[in-house]
Amino acid sequence: MRKCRLCEKPAEIYISSHNLALCREDFIENFERRVERTIRKFKMLDKRERVLVAISGGKDSLALIHLLNKLGYRATGYHIDLGIGDYSRESLERVREFRKREGVEIIVESVRDEFGMGIGEISKRVKQPPCSVCGTIKRYMFNRAARNFDSIATGHNLDDEIATLMGNVLNWQTEYLARQYPVLESRDSLKKKIKPFVFVSEYETATYAFVENIPYILEECPYSTGAKSIFYKEILNRVEERMTGTKLRFLSGFLKHRHLFLASGERKIDLKPCIKCGYMTTSDICQFCRLKERINDKRRQSWQKFSPE
Ligand code: SF4
Ligand code: ZN
Repeated sequence: MRKCRLCEKPAEIYISSHNLALCREDFIENFERRVERTIRKFKMLDKRERVLVAISGGKDSLALIHLLNKLGYRATGYHIDLGIGDYSRESLERVREFRKREGVEIIVESVRDEFGMGIGEISKRVKQPPCSVCGTIKRYMFNRAARNFDSIATGHNLDDEIATLMGNVLNWQTEYLARQYPVLESRDSLKKKIKPFVFVSEYETATYAFVENIPYILEECPYSTGAKSIFYKEILNRVEERMTGTKLRFLSGFLKHRHLFLASGERKIDLKPCIKCGYMTTSDICQFCRLKERINDKRRQSWQKFSPE
């Protein structure tokens, strides 16, 4: 039986990219130390700042808020109930269970309270793909909820980050490459965004959540089936199986050469406040307020159709 590299106890966890076999306790310590190193290296946070953690109910986001609070950071969670059937119901249940168990503050808001319906129905009404509507709504609600915080943290892990990187490289989206970084400084009314898990793999965050007894939802959102990012992850996992360490090298190598793309990200986008809500946007009315207007128009139309003369 393999022994823990650090204490000689039987090893329970093997991290192939680092060729490291560890016992449970040393894995936890090693994982937390590596994440803290990322936080310091990229100057993501200090312990006086207030950070809002975007919580989906999945392993990465719950593991992240658990770890940040354990290490003494001032983290509050923020969960959006997207109104996507059983997936959203179960996510909310896991979030509540976690909140009760850990005693952390988690703010919960709901898409239904904003629009009177969930993501699926909004998508049908405005004839836009669910993920596009969902992206607009989540971005807006996160930024609004983060008004009194210094930054927003997300649980993107190494696998998420390199799947995005692969998509950006395959399509040579140089503007996106210029903006892909573990920390995005605040600009206009948008808060600083940080990704403390970018150098730890999905396997490691899942293992950490498991050994720390964190309750999380296993199912993926039903609208994620067929997503390109899932396909890229499968390919990158196959490459990693043949050539250990590729995933980490892909991200580290990109960060080393990212300066080559910076000029592409310099295009100045003029932002101005939305005339309805004040959110910074490129047009007079922000996408979120436009969605609301379209939904309300459609509701009015259908009501008129059924109302007696
Ligand atoms: Fe939203 Fe699409 Fe993600 Fe589901 S898969 S949570 S709809 S962005
Ligand atoms: Zn607006």
